[in-house]
Amino acid sequence: MADLVARRVEAIERAIGPFLAAMMAPHAQRRVAGGAADFMAGNPQELALPGFVAALARWSVPQDKDWFAYKMMHPRAQEAAARGLGARLGLAFDAADIILARGASGGLALPLHTVVDPGDEVLFVSPPWFFYEAMILAAGATPVRVRVDPDTFDLDLDAIAGAVSAHTRAIILNTPHNPTGKIYPPQTLERLAVLLTEASARYSRPIYVLADEAYNRIVFDERPFHSPGRFYPYSFLIQTYSKSALAPGQRLGYVALPPTMPDRERIRRALLAVAFGHGDLPPDAVMQYALPEIETLSIDIGHLQRKRDRLVAALRDLGYEVHVPEGTFYLLPRTPIEDDVAFTEALARRDVFVLPGTAVEMPGYIRLSLTATDAMIDRALPVFAAAIADAAHSPAR
Ligand code: PMP
Repeated sequence: MADLVARRVEAIERAIGPFLAAMMAPHAQRRVAGGAADFMAGNPQELALPGFVAALARWSVPQDKDWFAYKMMHPRAQEAAARGLGARLGLAFDAADIILARGASGGLALPLHTVVDPGDEVLFVSPPWFFYEAMILAAGATPVRVRVDPDTFDLDLDAIAGAVSAHTRAIILNTPHNPTGKIYPPQTLERLAVLLTEASARYSRPIYVLADEAYNRIVFDERPFHSPGRFYPYSFLIQTYSKSALAPGQRLGYVALPPTMPDRERIRRALLAVAFGHGDLPPDAVMQYALPEIETLSIDIGHLQRKRDRLVAALRDLGYEVHVPEGTFYLLPRTPIEDDVAFTEALARRDVFVLPGTAVEMPGYIRLSLTATDAMIDRALPVFAAAIADAAHSPAR
């Protein structure tokens, strides 16, 4: 391998190492066994939504000879996505500004490979989704980590201001935020927009926001979601159906350009060119045909919220420290011992599988996915009780 490629691969492997170590750990492999309580990832633990299955079945039947021909963007899918997102965000999207992609991952890769030059810096917020750093590196750019405010989990705007330089080309934001469940408030997004506008002017080139809104339909207590795109025109709004329909193996999502984005037509054309240039083709034909129906589906958010409330109350009763997430699939309790990996292994020995915080740059925590079933929660609570009792006998954190 060429030196540069080898160095990049090594950096990518280092970046995804803690996550892969957690997922591939020998004890974690037992989580698929019957009787296991699997809180490890935002995966479905029950059969898919009937409407999802019906949509795929209906649109799998060809209606003409071109049904499974090579596809660009299916206009009905773009229109349905523009309408749905527009209604949710209160912004009028042009259907042509919906660039269909393979989930949020595909949606993030597109702007990273379109507006970021090799050598540019891309800021990302820590704790991050596992693959941001790897994706920035794969685009030939330099990742720059900025921690959230440790007390509020809000963006730390001073830290962002301190990290922005003449080399900064973009910042990846994720709201609602995996793993803290924080929805960034409008005041923060407004101040961020001012900060980025000033920095863009100072360095004479725009700094883009890549707004990863994967969980923007997974919000609790009927809270409003605030898109960075309402506040800052240089924003790519990255959407996915992996969470709202909870069938992430069927890849479907898109990038939306807000109507306020400067130079929108050129950017749109560039994204399409990059999609093809990278062999990162649009979603499969059947997924595109089914999008208008999948757009109207949602998992039961009320049920997810009841699982959140039950787990938060029960874990607190047991003595765990845990905050209440505003959205996403995740709970983030502190571990009663310092070593979250050891604590994860102790739970796994009793068939409860969670992600160690170390995998998401939150040592001293574990991450639990609320996609686990009620029956899994029933089985897990006595195990959480036993684990914290055991921890009381081990050295203090
Ligand atoms: N961003 C965040 C914050 C996520 O949690 C995930 C999935 N867990 C993704 C992106 C990737 O989503 P997709 O399956 O749509 O590629």
